[in-house]
Order: sequence, then structure tokens, then C-alpha cells
Amino acid sequence: MRGSMSRSTGGDAFFPNILGAVELKTRTSRLHEALGRVIETQNWSEPQIRDWHETSVIELVRDAFKRIPFYREKYDRAGFDPDTLCSRRDFTRIPILTKDELRQAPRETLVSHGDDGEHAFVQTSGSTGVPVGLFVSRDALEWFTAVNTLLYYRWCDAHPLTNVLFILDSKPHNIDYLIADQLRTTVMEDRFLPTSEHTSILAEALRELEPEYLSSYPGTVRNLARYMIERGETGTYLRLIHLTSEMLDESARNAISQAFPEARLIETYTSTEAGFMGFECPTHGGFHLAEHNLFIELPGDDSNRGKDARLLVTDLVNRATPIIRYSGLGDILVPSGAPCACGNPLRHIRGIEGRQVDSILLEDGSWMSPYALTNIPANHPAVAAYQIIQHDMPRFEIRVVMNNRCGESDFEELESYIAREFTKILRYKVISVVTRVASIDPEPGHHKVPLVVSRPGRNV
Ligand SMILES: [Zn+2]
Repeated sequence: MRGSMSRSTGGDAFFPNILGAVELKTRTSRLHEALGRVIETQNWSEPQIRDWHETSVIELVRDAFKRIPFYREKYDRAGFDPDTLCSRRDFTRIPILTKDELRQAPRETLVSHGDDGEHAFVQTSGSTGVPVGLFVSRDALEWFTAVNTLLYYRWCDAHPLTNVLFILDSKPHNIDYLIADQLRTTVMEDRFLPTSEHTSILAEALRELEPEYLSSYPGTVRNLARYMIERGETGTYLRLIHLTSEMLDESARNAISQAFPEARLIETYTSTEAGFMGFECPTHGGFHLAEHNLFIELPGDDSNRGKDARLLVTDLVNRATPIIRYSGLGDILVPSGAPCACGNPLRHIRGIEGRQVDSILLEDGSWMSPYALTNIPANHPAVAAYQIIQHDMPRFEIRVVMNNRCGESDFEELESYIAREFTKILRYKVISVVTRVASIDPEPGHHKVPLVVSRPGRNV
């Protein structure tokens, strides 16, 4: 992927420093080692994966108790002794880690005293409430990068596209920034642009570089696509678009396909707390879970039953701040219930039905997937872009960018259509206000442009 290119667009450099030759060499050889480890796992059978989960979880829990002050105190308080763990059947006794615990833990307790400094601090964006922070080991970052690299070769049928562009969050504690930093061994630094850059600048960079491959976020690429469609431009040079970390809804998918008609869209599933979590199945859609680096307990699994069962994630690679039976992701995964026909033994899910923070609060106190509502404005012909905000249970604000050709009567028709359809889906009396806006922009300081903002969901 390494190639040189001069470019006049762009503001500040993505990276604050330049990598020296020695550091570059060290990183390249470490990345090769990580790739070797990742490739080795690819032939594991389902029983091998299960055996590996059993031994690794036990070892991880004991190690966390021994080395990490936070876990020492947490397990002592719960009266849990890691030495009593013998097999998978005992996993239900391992105390669950919540988002609040992680948020409230003093930073110095989340990492081993006297650790050799081979780790970085990462933090969630905070767009969804108080940020969650933890330490990620260099090994884990290299694993994440190696998995991405291997998938990239597969997506390209072993003939990697060489003209690439990454548009990512460039805040230093962002996980994607740290992965980008790892990628500098294979990608030139001028091929990274920050999401904070104005859409017009990003569009200019695309025009100039004509990349074949683009890696970014659904919100960023959706805005770029809309910008280009408005100007009658298409980017036929793009062959592959990799999207991660946000929901990709139908309307965004359509806009992206219209602006970049030759590009295949591929999604990966990632999180700040647990790193690489899954990848789209190239032949059957849905996602395979990254069970080569995670132990994932879906609601309904042997160790995770009951009405409050939630997604629980254990990260088997990151030893800096171990993530053990973490319930804080709140993602709603829909298992397919059968092995995937592609033959990959990694468990398959049909989809990610949105995240807790985007979920809609219903009258009976339960939560509904945000996708249930996004189709309503998305399918209306007068709407060019939209954002749904649930202020509290009955009150919704729907911010819309109207298509150019639409007038006042279309807007009035839209208002009554939305009130009617929202009430039909939610089955209670909804107070909906439709606001006309010029554009839907990211929240200040963040790259995400959420389609649904659930104030009740963010306060959980
Ligand atoms: Zn599959």
C-alpha cells in the first residue's frame, strides 16, 4: 500500500510527529509477528475456539486479579476467588463489569503498577455521555491492525488496491487514531485525513487522489456522498469502501452507492472498549463475531440467561486493562441461530440492531431498535437528510433537510405523515415536531452524525 503522492489540500497533519527509520523497522517486524499470530488462528475449528476460550478466560481472570488493582478490589468486594474457576461452567460466577464501574475507576487502578509502559490510554468519544477510558496494550493494537490487514487482503482477493485513503478521528485517545498510527508502517502519512476537516476539503482530496479504497465512518461518507450528489459528481474511481463504528442505514447506503457506483461497501464491527469485534460475512451478509480475540456471551447463551441478560464481552488480547464480562456496550445483536453457510466457525449474527444509546424508550419502559423509526423519514420523497431526536418518552423532534424542489405544502404533508407513522409504530400518542434545517452536522468535537439521538437512551 505504500506509495507517494503530493497533495495541496488538507489542514493540519494527521500525525504530530514523523516516524524515524528505526521505529518504522521495529513496527514493521512487530506487525509481521502479529499477522503470523492472526493467520494461525484462521484454521481453528469450533471446538478449538471453545477450548481456547475456556483456558484463556480462566488465565485472564487470574492474571487480572493478581496484577490490576481495580480487579483485585472488585473481586474481593464480591467475595469472588479466581482460583476456584475450573471450567466454562464456572464463568457465570465471574462478576460482570459495568460501564459505570469503568467510568468511575481512578485511572491509575486500571493498569498494573510497574507495567513497562507498552500501552496507550483510549477513551470513548463522549458524544453519548460521560466518556469511558481504559488502557490498551501495544499487543492488542497490533492484533487489531493485523486483523484489518488480513481482511483487507481478502476483500481485495489477494490483490490489494494500492491507492488508499483513510478519513478517521484524529483525537489522540481515539482507538481509530491509534490504529491509524499502527498503519503508518504500510500507508503513507498523507493518506490519512481527519474527520474534523470540512466536507468540501475532503471532497477535493477525493477528486485529487482518486483513491480506489476508502476507510471511514458511515456519517462521514454519507455527508461526502450527499455533497457530491448535490454537485452532480460521481466517484467512479472508488472500488471498495470500508465503514466502521456507526450504524449504516438504508438511506446512507443508497446515497453512498449513488455517489460511488463502482464501490463495494464492507463493514466491520468495532468498539473502544473491546477493539475488533466482528466483520461482515463476504458471502452471506451479517457479521461473524471476532471470537479469535474475544469471548462473547450473547443473551440466551448457557452462561448468560435471564430477562436482564445482555451482551457480555471479554477481551482475550488486551492485557493492559483487562475487559472481563463487560456489559457496557449495550449493542443489540441478532444471532442467526445456525452456523453460517460460508463454513467459517466463528458465530454469525444477522445484524446489529442498533446500540442502547440510540434506542427508543417506549411507554412500558422497554427499548426499541432505532431502525424501526429511521425508515419513516428516509422513505419520504421530500426528505434529503434527517435526524430523529427523542427528547423524552412522548416528545420527538425530526430535523429534516428538504429536497430542493419541495415547497411549503410538501412540508405540511410531511409533518402529518411523520406524526401518523410514528404513532403507528410506537403505539402511543407521540408529540412530533418537524424542523427544517439546512444541514445535519456532527455534534461539536465528534465525527459521528447520529441518525437517532435518544436522550433517555443516553442517560442510562
Ligand atoms: Zn459467513
